[in-house]
Amino acid sequence: MKTYDVVVIGAGAAGLMCALTAGYRGLRVRVVDHAGKAGKKILMSGGGRCNFTNLATTPAHFFSGNPHFSISALKRYTPHHFVELVERHGIEYVEKAPGQLFCAQSAKEIVSMLLTECEWAGVEVSLSTTVGSVERLGEGMRLEMDGRKTEAGAVVVATGGLSVPTLGASGFGYDLARQFGLAVTETRAALVPFTVTSRWKDSLASLSGLSCPVAVNCGDGSYREPLLFTHRGLSGPAMLQASSHWQPGMTVAIDWLPSIPVAETLADLRRRAPRRRLGNWLGEALPKRLSQALIEWQAWQDRPMAELSNADIDAVANGLKAWQFKPAGTEGWRTAEVTMGGVDTGAVSSKTFAVNAIPQLYFIGEVLDVTGQLGGFNFQWAWSSGVACGQAL
Ligand code: FAD
Repeated sequence: MKTYDVVVIGAGAAGLMCALTAGYRGLRVRVVDHAGKAGKKILMSGGGRCNFTNLATTPAHFFSGNPHFSISALKRYTPHHFVELVERHGIEYVEKAPGQLFCAQSAKEIVSMLLTECEWAGVEVSLSTTVGSVERLGEGMRLEMDGRKTEAGAVVVATGGLSVPTLGASGFGYDLARQFGLAVTETRAALVPFTVTSRWKDSLASLSGLSCPVAVNCGDGSYREPLLFTHRGLSGPAMLQASSHWQPGMTVAIDWLPSIPVAETLADLRRRAPRRRLGNWLGEALPKRLSQALIEWQAWQDRPMAELSNADIDAVANGLKAWQFKPAGTEGWRTAEVTMGGVDTGAVSSKTFAVNAIPQLYFIGEVLDVTGQLGGFNFQWAWSSGVACGQAL
């Protein structure tokens, strides 16, 4: 029977980072994954360019039952540490939006970098490997993998969340947590597009492909990001961010003109350009197709400004600044970028990521109840938690 100091389950972002960190410390490390390729989500991320970190990362960019849980790891391994690693490997990157770093060429470079580091650190990577069981064995652990027993001093669970099953996602990490008596908080798809009721489908489909900058409010979340119409509903960064705050039945409020004080602007135009038509002004302020759709949805009359009463101006301002819609749902696990909820952090050390009551069992990355906003935060959590655990093993 082969023995290792550490077996890491999951060759994704957090698992590979943890493995290479532990490997460099001289530990015998094996990473196993049921998928045939390592880092499948990294490869698909950021439209194939991987938004690998966000320079502005703070614990406030994460949702968790314990908002303090991420502080220690994020402080010890920062976005600058990861950027230094990327630069050492000669990977070119671009800052697409403030703080959001993407590969200039391809996400493949991040996976190659991690696998190269694992090789240099002497880590064994076993793909297409099925983990049957994990049991406590005295001070260590015993695993059954592809029918063979393996012993390890410690097991790190880095199996990620439930989003995009075709990329290898599974609930295995949650099942293991429950097996060892840990609580798992309710999981739901997040950073995911909204779907709409059939009433809206046709009119939204005619706008499919159109994108515009909006401000969105949902529950306690407010974001200023682009919105994208798709043939299934509403997407783009604004909607993905809002989805993290959304529960069935809730409404989402959209400000279509976040930079324009609409009521004041219309009142001013009524004085200065009384013959200008509402539709004409709106068609210049917004993409034409969208302005026409908004007029139709809200049954506004395309009249000259002079004919708008104060109540008309208020109605238009309200319809543009706080347009409310009730999503039918979300696209769910098929397209969600992350899983909200996960292994309850209450039983896990935020310094070492070991289970407090079982010191040879660790949980890192997205499998934990720590979920980042859109913009590179989720990968930063994977790197930071992976390094903290790899140093503690
Ligand atoms: P993962 O990277 O998901 O790795 C988990 C690994 O465990 C996988 O390799 C999986 O095959 C393996 N596994 C699962 N179950 C088992 C099992 N039973 N046995 C063995 N192995 C198992 N975040 C960003 O910060 N920036 C982005 O640009 C970005 N884009 C994204 C785009 C898409 C389409 C998706 C789906 C997600 C994106 N994310 C992005 C989120 C990010 O990918 C995840 O938060 C991150 O990969 C989590 O890292 P992890 O190591 O915890 O889990």
